[in-house]
Amino acid sequence: MSDLISQIAVNQIATKNELLEIIVNEQYDNELFAAADKVRQSIYGKEVYMRGLIEFTNYCKNDCFYCGIRHSNKNAERYRLTPKQIEQCAENGYGLGFRTFVLQGGEDPFYTDDVLCEIVKKLKAKYPDCAVTLSLGERSYDSFKALKDAGADRYLLRHETANKFHYEKLHPANMSFDNRIRCLYDLKSLVFQVGAGFMVGSPFQTTENLVDDLLFLKELDPHMVGIGPFIPHKDTPFANYIPFENNNEPADIANVDGNTNRSLRLTLVMVALTRLFLPNALIPATTALGTINETGRELGIRAGANVVMPNLSPLDTRNKYLLYDGKICTGDEAAECVQCMKRRMKSIGYNLVEKRGDYICG
Ligand code: SF4
Repeated sequence: MSDLISQIAVNQIATKNELLEIIVNEQYDNELFAAADKVRQSIYGKEVYMRGLIEFTNYCKNDCFYCGIRHSNKNAERYRLTPKQIEQCAENGYGLGFRTFVLQGGEDPFYTDDVLCEIVKKLKAKYPDCAVTLSLGERSYDSFKALKDAGADRYLLRHETANKFHYEKLHPANMSFDNRIRCLYDLKSLVFQVGAGFMVGSPFQTTENLVDDLLFLKELDPHMVGIGPFIPHKDTPFANYIPFENNNEPADIANVDGNTNRSLRLTLVMVALTRLFLPNALIPATTALGTINETGRELGIRAGANVVMPNLSPLDTRNKYLLYDGKICTGDEAAECVQCMKRRMKSIGYNLVEKRGDYICG
């Protein structure tokens, strides 16, 4: 193994220049992925945890420029699941072996703290052996506390980018980088298992931004890190943005394959470096990774990821929760998704397991 990779694997840190060297040079890839795989196996073995994703509302008051369910997208067909429907999704998931439910939605004021706390309490009472993860966007400290007190175990909130200037290129002026970071530290102080993360290849992103993302993760030290490739959505201001072209011109089909491969490689590199930086992290092989490449999730696992997130949402809402175009698995029953994922993991020598899959402290 090269000195550089083994030194990062041992020390769990690197300088900006060392990270840049690895990110831009493909020659490190195989060693990097092998080192990350070795680290995750030393902590989590060959187990892959599954999280049952329940996308319960696609209403959102925000207008993130990259997101297909942003408030301004008048083409999005909006829906909300009732608490009863959410419980039914969990019931279905429990029967399929899920021991973590992820309640995800846009920032929808319809779901007040009281409504959400009731849902969390019911799920925790009915399934005491399961973890409840929330992914509801930015909220106040008091709101996070109420949700924690109601029994929620984990909270996912991607930081999206650790660079304030870049953040402001991806979000409208009424959204605040500082508030997002405040939320993450509030969640940590409330002893949630906290998830951060970012997109790879998002508009205006530089290689230095990716380095900053890794260094920010090291500082925040989250329990979970979601990293997926940027994929444009047709009804957003970034509809025609091709990752790595750094322009907003209409897509040049001739370039798409090359850029997709670049997105894939770079996402895997960031997954692997995250594993070396945060050896104990729970890192999903994201659905977006599986969307840009048929075996993207398998490649993600082999590059150090250890979680997959099949969808438990009702079939008739799946193709309405589209943050980006081309999302896979929108037409499959959850039971089919689990079987498919089991096969996929087995094909690369890993096991999809029916466990809560909590963070293992280092
Ligand atoms: S990324 Fe999240 S907060 Fe932003 S518009 Fe989409 S759902 Fe809303």
